[in-house]
Parts: sequence; C-alpha cells; structure tokens
Amino acid sequence: MEETYSAFNQAQREFDKVAEMMKLDPSYREVLREPVRSLLVNVPVRMDSGTIKTFPGYRVQHNTACGPAKGGVRFSTDVTLDEVQALAMWMTWKCSLAGIPFGGGKGGINVDVHDLSEGELERLSRRYFSEIQSIVGPEKDIPAPDMNTDARIMAWFMDTYSMNTGNTTLGVVTGKPLELGGSLGRDAATGRGVEISALNILGKKGVDPKKARVVIQGFGNVGAWAAKLLHDDGCKIIGLSDVYGAVYNPKGLNPYDAVERAMKPEDSVSKLLPGDKITNDELLALECEVLAPCALQNQLTGKNAAKVRAKIIVEGANGPTTPEADQDFFERRITVAPDFLANAGGVIVSYFEWVQGLAFFFWTEREVNNKLATLMNQNIDKVYALAEEKNISMRDAAYVFAIKRVADAVRLRGIYP
Ligand code: NAD
Repeated sequence: MEETYSAFNQAQREFDKVAEMMKLDPSYREVLREPVRSLLVNVPVRMDSGTIKTFPGYRVQHNTACGPAKGGVRFSTDVTLDEVQALAMWMTWKCSLAGIPFGGGKGGINVDVHDLSEGELERLSRRYFSEIQSIVGPEKDIPAPDMNTDARIMAWFMDTYSMNTGNTTLGVVTGKPLELGGSLGRDAATGRGVEISALNILGKKGVDPKKARVVIQGFGNVGAWAAKLLHDDGCKIIGLSDVYGAVYNPKGLNPYDAVERAMKPEDSVSKLLPGDKITNDELLALECEVLAPCALQNQLTGKNAAKVRAKIIVEGANGPTTPEADQDFFERRITVAPDFLANAGGVIVSYFEWVQGLAFFFWTEREVNNKLATLMNQNIDKVYALAEEKNISMRDAAYVFAIKRVADAVRLRGIYP
C-alpha cells in the first residue's frame, strides 16, 4: 500500500531526502522548507443575479533568492493553501534547474469556473489580481496560466495591473495573447521540451531516432505537440491515448490525423487513428524506446511499474511517476527524465516572453525555439552526467542542481538584516 501525504508534505519530503543526500546545512534547510510569503485573499464578486459571492484566493511565493517568483494561477474547486504551497515549492526547483532568473510562486482561486458567466469570470479575475497586486509585479512575481486559466484571463490580469498603476506593463504576466506581448512558440513549448529531452537521451544511449518507437499518454497541449514533433523527427509513434481510449499500431501512427484535446469520444485518437484499440494499462506496458506520460499525475505506480517495457521515460505531465515506480525504474535501469526537467519548456519560453515584454522587443519563432533547445539540452546534459557519475536517478540529480543553486543564492545574499 503506497502511503499518501498532503501535496505540501510530499514536496517537503522530496526536498528533505535530497537535502540529506547533499548534506545541506540545517539552517538553510529550514529556510528552504517553507514559503517566504503566503497571501490569502477573499475575492468578492457581484454575480449576474445581483447577489455578491466571495471566493477564497491564494498567492504563494516559495522562494525569491534567484529572482522574482514565477508560477501559474489555477481556478479549481481543488485549490487549497496546502496545494498552492506545494506547487510554489516545485516551481522554485523547476526555475532553478532551468537556469532562469526566477524563484517559485503559484496562485489559485477555489471556484468552479463552469458555474460562472463570462462577465462573472472577468470580474473574479480582475478583483483577484487587484487583491494580490501588492505582492506581484514584473520585478516581484509574474503569474501565468494554469488549470482553467488561459490567455484571455492573462489579458485581464495585465490590464487590471496596468489600469491600477497607470502604465501598460507587459512583464507582469506571461501566457498573454500574441497581440498583447505573448511569445511566438509558447503554445508548442512544453511539448517541444519533451521532444528535445527524448532526442537528447536517445542520442546518449546511441539510439537512432528513426529507429525509436514512441508511446505517448495524453493528446492535449503537451502530448499532441510532443507526438507531432517526434513524428517529424522520424520516430515511429506506435501508441497514443487520450481520456477516451488508446490506440496501438506497430507500423506507426500519424498524429497529424488526430484532434488535439478531443472533447468528445468520436474525436478520440483511438477512433480517428488506424490500429488496435487497447486499454490505458496496455498502452503503458508497450515495448518501446520512449514512453512519454503527458496526461495526469500518478500514472506509473507500484502496481504497474514492473510491466513497463520502455527504455526511456520522459515525463511531460507533472508527477506521473510515484516514488515506488521510480525505485523500480531505477533498479531496472530505465532512464527517467523527471517532470521538472523534461516539461520545463513552457516556463523557459515564459521567461523569454517576460524578457521580450520588458525590452518591448520581440523575437522570431526560430529564435525562440533555438534558445529553448540550447537551454534544455544544457540542462539535460548536466543532469544526465551527474546521475551517471554518482549512480543516482536523473530525478535526484536534477534536485541536487535545483536545490544547490537556490541554497547558494540564499547563502551569498545573506540573511537580512
Ligand atoms: P490538456 O488538458 O491539454 O491535455 C490533457 C490530455 O490528457 C488530453 O488529451 C486528455 O484527453 C488526456 N487524458 C486525461 N485523462 C487521461 C487518462 N486517464 N488517460 C489518458 N489520457 C488522459 O493538458 P496539458 O496542458 O497537455 O497538460 C498535461 C500535463 O502536463 C498536466 O500534468 C500538466 O500539469 C502538465 N504540464 C503542462 C504544461 C503546459 O504548458 N501545458 C506545462 C508543464 C506541465
């Protein structure tokens, strides 16, 4: 039976494990285990009916030693302070590992967006951003889209901040529409990062991408882009799935024939693409060179890990592998590119968007993609090399780099006053 912990507890346990392995000074451990700032706001919204409803909202900055906090804002009934604190901590390690000048932050409102009209959603978004305005800003904390928030909501956030300050401030949020300072290449960035990770590690293992069989779970923003780009590279995509089903074809599937983010069963990859209809469990157990879970958390667990026959696992989703499955993969020498390394393409291009917004100078898509590839490959190379040298997993090696950079920044800055 796998034990379960609250999300923040889990994030702290992961940190403790690596801090112990690194022999990190206990004083710095204490600083890094907790968020520097957690803001709870109550967001009143005048509903279309004329009544007023109040929604709890949060913005947490876990650490800002390396730069302003960075992280999404989610609108969901699952949002709690505990969850937001965990997600903010994970953002600290992700930004640190990515080598970008950001700390970690996260925000959210506990709300069911399906219950809101367009006008109510806009009033909720604007009032929330006004409530957290004292701690956000282009040099303080830069929110972005997350679950149930999108470019349209980022435009409202940016406009609200700009109206309150009297300046059009492009750098206050990322994930904006292209017309308002969004970056070219952002939509594909996370899937592109998964592609870059897969190609990099295949190269290290001496496998020709044209001979690589790839299986991808999830055909949304991340999975569909990863599938299309790896298909373009000549890999054979032998298995794909979405929430409605999975399909297997040893001759290869063409992801361009499928609908990204299918909203009804008829548009599922399992209906549109030719091949054998299989279950999710069968998909995860297909023999392949690359398995990329790009759907949900907790997909590879103590229960199904032993059946996995991939050589490389590239985590497009957040938290798809439980610690028990991770241990099994490490013992069986299956290389796992961990989520906060392999799915960092999105936050890296968000960093590029912020830089472009501050400079009011915009890059071509080719420039964005080239800079993304350079940064991702550097990060994968150093993590892979440390994992090999110390005979540890890539996840542990990635944590070592991520925590060391932040701990060094805290130490060098000193404790104020
Ligand atoms: P999305 O909603 O666009 O797509 C999710 C896909 O997963 C859909 O195809 C859906 O049908 C499928 N899916 C859902 N449940 C499934 C199941 N039980 N079995 C198989 N497929 C299932 O989401 P996304 O933006 O692609 O995000 C996917 C994952 O990647 C999430 O864990 C997210 O946190 C993570 N992530 C996304 C980004 C980003 O930039 N979009 C960045 C970093 C991490």
